[in-house]
Amino acid sequence: MSITQYDITVIGGGIVGLATAYKLNTHHPNLRVLVLEKEKSVAFHQTGRNSGVIHSGIYYKPGSYKAKNCVDGRRELVQFAKENNVAHDVCGKIIVATHESELAHMNRVFENGKKNGVEDIELINAQQIKEIEPFATGISGIRVGCTGIIDFVGICETLKSIIKSKYSQSGVKREHEVIGIEKSSDFSTIITNKGNFTSKYIVNCTGLQSDRIAKLDNTPPNMKIVGFRGDYYELTPQAQHKVKHLIYPVPNPEFPFLGVHFTRMLNHPTECGPNAVFVFKREGYHKTDFNLTDTLDALSYAGTWKLFAKHWRFGLDEYRRAFSKKLFLERLQRLVPSLTMEDIVPGRAGVRAMALDNAGNMIDDFKIVRSTNALHVLNAPSPAATACLAIGKAVNDMAEEHFNLN
Ligand SMILES: Cc1cc2nc3c(=O)[nH]c(=O)nc-3n(C[C@H](O)[C@H](O)[C@H](O)COP(=O)(O)OP(=O)(O)OC[C@H]3O[C@@H](n4cnc5c(N)ncnc54)[C@H](O)[C@@H]3O)c2cc1C
Repeated sequence: MSITQYDITVIGGGIVGLATAYKLNTHHPNLRVLVLEKEKSVAFHQTGRNSGVIHSGIYYKPGSYKAKNCVDGRRELVQFAKENNVAHDVCGKIIVATHESELAHMNRVFENGKKNGVEDIELINAQQIKEIEPFATGISGIRVGCTGIIDFVGICETLKSIIKSKYSQSGVKREHEVIGIEKSSDFSTIITNKGNFTSKYIVNCTGLQSDRIAKLDNTPPNMKIVGFRGDYYELTPQAQHKVKHLIYPVPNPEFPFLGVHFTRMLNHPTECGPNAVFVFKREGYHKTDFNLTDTLDALSYAGTWKLFAKHWRFGLDEYRRAFSKKLFLERLQRLVPSLTMEDIVPGRAGVRAMALDNAGNMIDDFKIVRSTNALHVLNAPSPAATACLAIGKAVNDMAEEHFNLN
């Protein structure tokens, strides 16, 4: 069995892992960095199945890692996409309030945006909503000019190519699943299904599996990843004209990641969604997918039941919508009332890695923890794809200090 030596091994070839490896090598060109990805292609899970939106940073609590990394990361991502010819379009979006009860939170979101330094945002009235999106209806809204759409898989392929071509001592290995980690005082042996690697340091960027990889490394994650599937519908060709760019509802402050929206895609019909439904398989993209280990893992965790108890009504609504096109349509009609059953067809699905603490609270902010010779990115929810380069830089900075790289 071949054994190969690296300085840092990044586990996980999603956008966070690849951006981290890229930043490590940009700041330390001689570092031997290895990315291990278990699937046939990079960006196979959350990154390749998301909404493809370059988020502005308007939603996030001022001062949070999300707020800072989203705004900085977005600007850097757009620049990176321009320099490397990755398809993207900063087309802007509108956030639409359809009921008076939403106005107070809409204004809070707008104030957040200003505090977070989000450029090109303005409050708009019902008439201006119609001028931007003639088929949308609302009483007030926010126009966010710096939101866009992007090919996140293209970003990952580009990061992979740069790592491989510019830093010959580094590499990205697909179809290598990490199944064990053995630690000695000055290096770790990383055991994969295709051979072992030795590495001085490890960075865990495994998204839906981040808690399990932390445990393999003897690091108690103090949280559990629970999967929530997001189903999308697509606009049919005859309905494409009803949405020009991106239309979002005012988020529910309790569940800011929820709220079906309309997203014009780059080379694909406009998508409507996603909802959020508890899954019985972490990497299951069909409504009936089931995995015993994943199910037992989630349901034996006190935090999952506490979440269900606190939010059962919401969960039930989302579940019903997953199985009823009519209910899904009703939610979409709040934003675009003229939409009909014939205007939408089922599309793809993605699964969000939701990090839950033992009390059933959703961990909202990005979370990176240190352990012996390792860093674990335990929580990288939306907008982590937008913020990937800023997160990669943050991990690099932590690695410099924690691994004594300089
Ligand atoms: C439905 C949905 C919509 C979203 N919309 C947006 C959006 O519009 N904009 C935005 O910015 N963000 C969005 N997000 C969030 C964003 O997609 C994620 O935050 C981001 O992709 C996380 O990247 P990641 O690299 O951490 O995880 P992932 O992309 O899941 O990558 C983790 C990788 O680790 C690999 N892996 C796991 N275990 C192992 C192992 N044992 N060995 C080797 N490899 C392993 C997996 O195969 C996977 O490729 C959305 C997410 C979802 C699910």
